[in-house]
Amino acid sequence: MKDLSILIVGGGIGGLTSAIALCRKGYAVEVIERDPDWSVYGVGIIQQGNVIRAMTELGLVDDYISAGFGFDRVQVYIPTGQCVADIPTPRLVDGYPGNVGIGRRALHKVLGDRTIGAGANVRLGLTVATMDDDGAGVSVTFSDGSAGRYDLVIGADGLYSQTRQTIFPDAPKPEFTGQSVWRYNFKRTPDVIGLQAYEGQTGIGLVPLSNELMYMYVTTPEPDNPRYAKEDLASTMRAKIANVPSPAIQALVGQITADDEVVYKPLEWMFLEGPWHKGRVALLGDAVHATTPHLGQGAGMAIEDGLVLADELVAADDIQTALATYRDRRFERCRYIVDSSKAICFGQIGKGPLVDNAVATREMFMKVAEPI
Ligand SMILES: Cc1cc2nc3c(=O)[nH]c(=O)nc-3n(C[C@H](O)[C@H](O)[C@H](O)COP(=O)(O)OP(=O)(O)OC[C@H]3O[C@@H](n4cnc5c(N)ncnc54)[C@H](O)[C@@H]3O)c2cc1C
Repeated sequence: MKDLSILIVGGGIGGLTSAIALCRKGYAVEVIERDPDWSVYGVGIIQQGNVIRAMTELGLVDDYISAGFGFDRVQVYIPTGQCVADIPTPRLVDGYPGNVGIGRRALHKVLGDRTIGAGANVRLGLTVATMDDDGAGVSVTFSDGSAGRYDLVIGADGLYSQTRQTIFPDAPKPEFTGQSVWRYNFKRTPDVIGLQAYEGQTGIGLVPLSNELMYMYVTTPEPDNPRYAKEDLASTMRAKIANVPSPAIQALVGQITADDEVVYKPLEWMFLEGPWHKGRVALLGDAVHATTPHLGQGAGMAIEDGLVLADELVAADDIQTALATYRDRRFERCRYIVDSSKAICFGQIGKGPLVDNAVATREMFMKVAEPI
């Protein structure tokens, strides 16, 4: 199909990468983002070769790599600090690393600039007020009183997607796993040149983000989903890892001092088993398959969704065929990521059998290397 006008609801990782992919196919794209400041929190994200491949396809890989820290190994440690596995990671694009650690703000800047540069109309501080799909198009009114008509609406509005709620009010709600994550940025130490993942009930990871910066994540069982006071976050995070014997971790604990720089998040998941579209409204990213971060692939899946959707729109003669084929191409891959990530999570907190992280990580690298 040619000459489609497309509204994307949500200016996050999935919304922006799909906007870039769709603009590159020649479509007219509008992105609306609820947050008037278009802000992103300050820690980082891990991405693997399939994302580097996707960024290459989007024509922005060099900007992306320069904004982050490329690496080619994942090391698994036990809590004493002993390295028990050193996993070489496959490179999927010649001349580029197998993985990237990147600050969320740095990634957002690259994607936001490229989205605008590609010609998308980005409107901030806006949500959908009403949507009427009459079969020939979707008439939308916005929270500022303006209106538009589109051939296709894409809900890339995250885990608590309003678009999903509108088209599938009976879809399953996000579920809390019983585990939460604590994150904090540090000055990068010279030994952190790849992901260092510590196994245990309290999982820890050190991730390089740039020459200067790295971040630590700490996953902890939180069965009752407690609310921690903002002014206690640094001391609570310190307490959570006070007994981890690794000297490398202990050297960092004392640096966790700024409450407002601790990013605490209860981990939730959601997967939509049924269709991923209704009429001319489709969903992608966390709106339809939100995973726990144990394999570092949530954003990767959202980015791949946008590429596949753009390809299918070009290839198909009608919207319904394109959207059905898009979902078919994405379904098993996304389900694998959600299920495998959740299995690691549940194993860590005693809700399921313990999963060997090194084995699961190796398998994930093989799976995501497959073409999308
Ligand atoms: C703790 C944690 C760690 C993670 N680590 C990794 C990692 O290392 N690697 C990885 O690949 N993935 C990781 N992920 C997953 C990754 O963050 C998500 O999969 C990814 O952000 C999904 O992108 P998205 O665009 O679908 O949704 P989001 O990033 O949530 O973006 C949705 C956007 O829509 C906007 N929005 C919401 N509602 C509306 C509305 N009604 N109208 C307009 N705009 C709206 C939001 O403001 C937001 O900008 C992690 C997730 C968590 C929770």
